Amino acid sequence: MNPFTVRLKFHGDLSFFLKSNNAIVERQIRRKTSIKDVIESCGVPHPEVDLILVNGQPANFAHVVERDTEVGVYPINTRILLPENRLQTIHIEKFISDGHLGKLVRDLRLLGIDVVYDPPAEDRQLVDRSRTDNRALLTRDRRLLMYGIVQHDYYLRSQKPLEQTIEVLRRFDLLSAVASFTRCLHCNALLEQVEKSEVIEQLEPLTKIYYQKFRRCTGCGQIYWPGSHFDKLRARIEGIRATLTAEFQSEN
Ligand SMILES: [Zn+2]
Repeated sequence: MNPFTVRLKFHGDLSFFLKSNNAIVERQIRRKTSIKDVIESCGVPHPEVDLILVNGQPANFAHVVERDTEVGVYPINTRILLPENRLQTIHIEKFISDGHLGKLVRDLRLLGIDVVYDPPAEDRQLVDRSRTDNRALLTRDRRLLMYGIVQHDYYLRSQKPLEQTIEVLRRFDLLSAVASFTRCLHCNALLEQVEKSEVIEQLEPLTKIYYQKFRRCTGCGQIYWPGSHFDKLRARIEGIRATLTAEFQSEN
């Protein structure tokens, strides 16, 4: 087969993943290749790609290139046309995190978001669980997102937990799903309200005196009350909400 050229233009923040700053990449190819593989050979994981135009026509990841081709590659959440040709699901409420994102997981659970976190799990187990449980995989490991079966998942740009939390809420349109202080930070199960009398035996002396409202984890039994960290956590949540609300208003 004669070699041919695929010329890709990466739009929006997809250039984040490219090796050079140039958003246009040319690839010389010698055999029929799926557009997914061509895009990923440039460093861009396919779950980050929401629309592909091949010579101006919408295409899916399995589209095969076999001659000179112009390709437009678009990220999620750009204000673009062709909603019916989008490749990603925007709104997802269940997640699984890789084993290096403990602070992000804690933040998301604090906001009531369902996140499975199992640091000893192998890559393959994470990917499989994300599929069987229908969870979006959160990671900073690009290789993980290049597994063929991975689909609606997300690569965190920032290394800072607070910014990562905002990224996830933004990417998956989660602001309306936030329900703070409803989920266990340790095990991810939901909390239930309990009477003080039910848990009083387990409380420290000062907690017994100063607090009246308690929640208990339905999974591990951990007891929560609005203690000394509460105001700090609440301020963190308010900060996240304010950032996203301001973004939303400036876009609309
Ligand atoms: Zn728990």
